[in-house]
Amino acid sequence: MLRENYRDVEEKIAAACARSGRKRSEVTLIAVSKTKPAEMIQEIYDLDQRDFGENKVQELTGKIDLLPSDIRWHLIGHLQQNKVKYIAGRVCLIHSVDSLRLAETISREALKHSCTIPILIEVNVAGEESKFGVSVEETLPLVEAAAQLPGIEIRGLMTIAPYVTDPEENRPVFKKLRELSVDIAGKNINNVTMSVLSMGMTGDYEVAIEEGATMVRVGTGIFGARDYGAQK
Ligand SMILES: *Cc1c(COP(=O)(O)O)cnc(C)c1O
Repeated sequence: MLRENYRDVEEKIAAACARSGRKRSEVTLIAVSKTKPAEMIQEIYDLDQRDFGENKVQELTGKIDLLPSDIRWHLIGHLQQNKVKYIAGRVCLIHSVDSLRLAETISREALKHSCTIPILIEVNVAGEESKFGVSVEETLPLVEAAAQLPGIEIRGLMTIAPYVTDPEENRPVFKKLRELSVDIAGKNINNVTMSVLSMGMTGDYEVAIEEGATMVRVGTGIFGARDYGAQK
């Protein structure tokens, strides 16, 4: 089943790239493996998938120890400052930076670990109460302030679009994030590239790709529905 799911997602990504005149290599698929056991992750790894996403630090570090060392781990969920120390130097990208204080903590931990930590700024484009992320207006000031910090590299923006039944409803959200990223890139801020646009999940990744996503985060579409009841 996993193999078929994975092939299906791959085909849809390829088709969305073709429709929008983009190269398949411009889009990175992140397989979101939260709540799923290491054996399932290994199965997808064996199909040559290397980018995996987790949203909880403890779960992530547990899995890092069990799985091949060439996996690129993405922290995609809300990050508490006191947990940054557990992932410094162990993840390839933190997608969910939404405050200067968090960026400062990541900077400090990067220096302690003598590494550079790539980050994305999480933007709550739709302004949903329930979501983390800065507003569209707060994004540039946060990028400018965080760009001053040593040990981190701002690579782009991330958003979690609203839960909708028709993915077309999220097209304006993705467009908005893309525009914001182009605007910020135009400022040529030192230490900032806007090369990554992390947007699109199982329900809407094809639309996100059409709107310029360079990373899509797909969980359910690959691993099946999550059973939170089975977690401790
Ligand atoms: C869980 C999660 C995903 C994947 O969601 P699916 O709908 O299962 O594809 C993507 N991004 C973030 C931040 C998540 O927490």
